[in-house]
Amino acid sequence: AHLDRVAEVDPKINAFLHVDAEAALEQARAIDARRAAGEELGPLAGVPIAHKDVFTTIDMPTTAGSRILEGWRPPYDATVTRRLREAGLVILGKTNLDEFAMGSSTENSAYFPTRNPWDLSRVPGGSSGGSSAAVAGYVTPLSTGTDTGGSIRQPAAVTGIVGMKPTYGGSSRYGLIAFASSLDTPGPFARNVLDAALLHEAFSGHDPLDSTSIDAPVPPVVEAARHPDVAGLRVGVVKEFAGEGYQQGVLNRFHDSVELLESLGAKVVEVSCPSFTTALPAYYLIAPSECSSNLARFDAMRYGLRVGDDGTRSAEEVMALTRAAGFGPEVKRRIMLGTYALSSGYYDAYYGQAQKVRTLIARDFEAAFQQVDVLISPTTPTTAFPIGERADDPMAMYLADLCTIPANLAGNAAISVPCGLADEDGLPVGLQIMAPVLGDDRCYRVGAAVEK
Ligand code: GLN
Repeated sequence: AHLDRVAEVDPKINAFLHVDAEAALEQARAIDARRAAGEELGPLAGVPIAHKDVFTTIDMPTTAGSRILEGWRPPYDATVTRRLREAGLVILGKTNLDEFAMGSSTENSAYFPTRNPWDLSRVPGGSSGGSSAAVAGYVTPLSTGTDTGGSIRQPAAVTGIVGMKPTYGGSSRYGLIAFASSLDTPGPFARNVLDAALLHEAFSGHDPLDSTSIDAPVPPVVEAARHPDVAGLRVGVVKEFAGEGYQQGVLNRFHDSVELLESLGAKVVEVSCPSFTTALPAYYLIAPSECSSNLARFDAMRYGLRVGDDGTRSAEEVMALTRAAGFGPEVKRRIMLGTYALSSGYYDAYYGQAQKVRTLIARDFEAAFQQVDVLISPTTPTTAFPIGERADDPMAMYLADLCTIPANLAGNAAISVPCGLADEDGLPVGLQIMAPVLGDDRCYRVGAAVEK
């Protein structure tokens, strides 16, 4: 049924870069056979899933949305991929994304843009826009994403689904094609909070193959999603996330959520996190700096594309030609920003300064969580914007992640859950719930209580 849905809906939304119907049916039959043989299988066995094309898969191409990896077949599975298979999930295919996960609209994919099922003229968010569109379009009940600055929560918000960024280090980066290694975090998409928790639990947890993986039990996320009790819970509204630049319909739905939480017995107070206003510029120095280092591996020798290797050119010339042809404009912009911010003479003024701001943001979170159990805000300042509207304006595009970036810089857990439709355009609005490091279960508890 889901493969039929792919055939029917995907030509309209373009969520997938790769679908292997035969392989998916084979996986599904194998699960059926195990069940028939009396094997006890987990809660997600046989459930279809779409997998962001930034995780390596041994049986499918992996492009990261870039021409530079076109045709590359990874020799191994990412830890997240391996755990999906172990849980018996049936991988339908790989989903579209902004090239190397850099973007907020999926328009930076080197292949094609993905469309929002709510309104085909609008973006599905990004960078995990193929994954959000596939779930929102009822093509698959579950999908995977990665969140470096908002790439799970923002697409979830603008397509009306649930998207969770686990605590940094709570889910493995092994086999995830790196963008900014100190920020990259795999997480789940689903149409409700409990489904997201089940997927979160299935692929999270310690991985010795990732040096930043946390060696601690997975927080009790499924338990929390099943018991959405918020009576007596202290909820902080981040004062800095309101005002100019926020769509009125987004603020209206946010205020509805506050009222709902109060009616359920939560104590809602305003909390100030003054450093959050500097998170966006700090992120746009740190993420490009790390990207400029990580993307150095695409040297035309080791992976994918190689241009101009006709026996007359030097390795440097082939490398330059390959990168010129293989990287898109946003990736080049980030590499240049990053190498500049890291270069001698500028390091202290830019990268060093941004790292100090990062520490201040983590301290704001720590101070806030002395007073409250969770922090809430709108997930994004606006609903889904029209395709093309921000494509030539990187600054406008970067603003989509205004509210999501602090949790990445500090490593905290944060979820986006649907909280209704905006009055102006009838498009979905997301509520963001942020929790302390390893407090992922609180996101699910509150999310399940208020999701629409
Ligand atoms: N939109 C942000 C960026 O372009 C975040 C991307 C992400 O989380 N991968 O960097």
